Amino acid sequence: MAQMNPKYSVLFEPVRIGPVTAPNRFYQVPHASGMTEANPRVRAAFRGTKAEGGWGVVSTGAVSTHPSSDDSPLPFGRLWDDNDIKSHTLATDVIHEHGSLAAIELWHGGASVMNRTSRLVGYSPSGLPWAATHVGFMGHQRPRVMDAKDIRDVIHWQVEAARRARAASYDIVYVYAGMGYLGYEFLIEEYNQRSDAYGGSVANRVRFVRELLEATKEAVGEDCGVALRISLEELRAKPSEHYASEAHEVVALMADLPDLWDVKMDSSPTDCGASRFRPEGAHEPVIEFVKQATDRPVVGVGRFTSPDTMVSQINRGVLDLIGGARPSIADPFLPNKIREGREDEIRECIGCNICISSWHDGVPVRCTQNPTAGEEWRRGWHPEKVPAAGSDCRVLVVGSGPAGLEAALTAARRGYEVTLAERKEELGGRLLFETRLPGLSAWGRVRDYRLQALQQMGNVDIYPGSEMQADELLAMEHGHVLLATGSRWTRHLYSSLEIPVGRLEQPGVYTPDNLAAGIVPEGPVLVYDFDNFYMGGVVAEFLARQGLQVSYATPAGHASAWTVMTNEQPFVHRMLHDLNIELFTLSLLTRHTGETATLENIFSGAPREVAARSVVLVGHREPEDEVYQALMAREAEFRDAGIRSVSRIGDAMAPGALVHAVYSGHLHARLLDEPNDPGYLRDIQIGVVPPGPAYPD
Ligand code: ADP
Ligand code: SF4
Repeated sequence: MAQMNPKYSVLFEPVRIGPVTAPNRFYQVPHASGMTEANPRVRAAFRGTKAEGGWGVVSTGAVSTHPSSDDSPLPFGRLWDDNDIKSHTLATDVIHEHGSLAAIELWHGGASVMNRTSRLVGYSPSGLPWAATHVGFMGHQRPRVMDAKDIRDVIHWQVEAARRARAASYDIVYVYAGMGYLGYEFLIEEYNQRSDAYGGSVANRVRFVRELLEATKEAVGEDCGVALRISLEELRAKPSEHYASEAHEVVALMADLPDLWDVKMDSSPTDCGASRFRPEGAHEPVIEFVKQATDRPVVGVGRFTSPDTMVSQINRGVLDLIGGARPSIADPFLPNKIREGREDEIRECIGCNICISSWHDGVPVRCTQNPTAGEEWRRGWHPEKVPAAGSDCRVLVVGSGPAGLEAALTAARRGYEVTLAERKEELGGRLLFETRLPGLSAWGRVRDYRLQALQQMGNVDIYPGSEMQADELLAMEHGHVLLATGSRWTRHLYSSLEIPVGRLEQPGVYTPDNLAAGIVPEGPVLVYDFDNFYMGGVVAEFLARQGLQVSYATPAGHASAWTVMTNEQPFVHRMLHDLNIELFTLSLLTRHTGETATLENIFSGAPREVAARSVVLVGHREPEDEVYQALMAREAEFRDAGIRSVSRIGDAMAPGALVHAVYSGHLHARLLDEPNDPGYLRDIQIGVVPPGPAYPD
């Protein structure tokens, strides 16, 4: 086995956090998983896999201390009474089995939660709703202004939850003062307009968080480390009379109170930025001062996937513990791979934020790079281990996009002899074009990770420049054929009632496929986007950066409307503005004359003409499955050809995002020689019989 590179040994030093000791510096910081008390086994296996992979500390996502912190329909954990302890113990047990520490992020959402299920009135320092102008957070009831009893109550709920956390065997208990939640609302002057001892000066605004920390330490501090998670972006931007900023003052006032400082940014788009707009290590300019201001260890994140960057963070005195959320999802075995000298095998996060979108969707996490994320218990999938091949059949994969590469790799790892055929001279499928688009180069990691692994395997033959048709497939003598032939963009248009109204087939109308083929449309160009994910916005940027005059129209209310799910949307709008790309929302494209395009308001029908010699349509994709159809038409010949199974996978089956293609490739490779897809196990809440009237039979 390869040895660890000695320059990385610093990453494997233990770190003391109050009364407990982290076995190394790899710290899976709290992050949303979309897993709640409703699926405790899914959650335990997801977190436990990270401990198995070497993360020295493994944390929960937000765990509510009381029904007045109810984020529904967004998913959150709960520790409201003793009935909730058991489902947490499932996770702490498995985390401890692997020698890691378990941390719990206790959380009160204050004015940022709407308590839609509990129907309790929210809590806030001064009655101001949080994120009141954000569609996803809007509510119609303002939060109450907390009085002295309310403050005592919230602290009491934190203490009770901390005691339950200890009973559930957590080693580190958090106080949360970040991301718009209650503790943070007290810290920020504009939200905290109180005139009592909890408002006004920074020392007063810190008081609530200080009391939460002191009470938590008193309750569980002998057994558990007490961590403070705090957002410093806004505070850092505020001048302070005696310190470099209010952030410096806040940290100085509580310097050695918590056993651990967990420092971060304030909003999801800046804290967990997509790689398209935010580089690795983007938090450093905001949080780099904290270590100088405290003797307590500091953890922070930055989508770190390179061990050299991690070592640099430690050696330059920025962090003591390398926080990972997305890198730990994309590769739960990242620490072990570094320890075993296999850092070139790390499956690096690409920063696409599909994982975050799962939380916004209210469902368990999905990951583009790691198809096993969330499936550890449901399907029994391990990120590093696959079942042995079910036969000595050879496997032919056609197409080298994300689906084909993942299928080929998984089948090869199972021990099958694999042939990968690709029509083009270069491998990568849709990634060939997409990674050339502005900000998307990191997505190349989807291809590079898989290709690098495949190229080192003795049981894999790769044939670029090999177009496969039904005749060739029947002659290849492979038992299993997986067709990953991708998809193409169409020229479909839709009405305001979402009804297809035919295709815009005429000169001067293009799709992203034409741009991928090297066509440069004649300006001015209108990009018309009802795909609503990244492609429309990124194509507009791509064309504008080539010097073309570009406008962008969409039937949605925002540009790249769905990217609100991946934290990209604010940056998309900023980019359109910075590049002078005129934006038309709520607009349906109805006509293109060759000189102008007609846009109609989706509600009023009012038309407007926009100068556009060319239109790029970013709407629907359809499967490119002609080879599959041709092959299936000759099913009678399969037996003589030695073909046992034929499947279309990825976009050739159902066009989707990269995450769907990778998942599809992985699933189908796991299913080779399985007569049926066994499906997945259904998780259920750990049995609690609530008090109250029995439900009639
Ligand atoms: P997915 O996202 O499902 O992986 P992609 O569009 O990224 O799909 O990749 C599909 C790949 O399949 C492309 O590289 C394309 O060139 C290749 N391909 C399509 N048809 C054939 C064929 N008949 N023979 C070989 N390769 C093909
Ligand atoms: Fe990284 Fe994307 Fe996976 Fe999230 S979904 S962990 S951003 S690769």
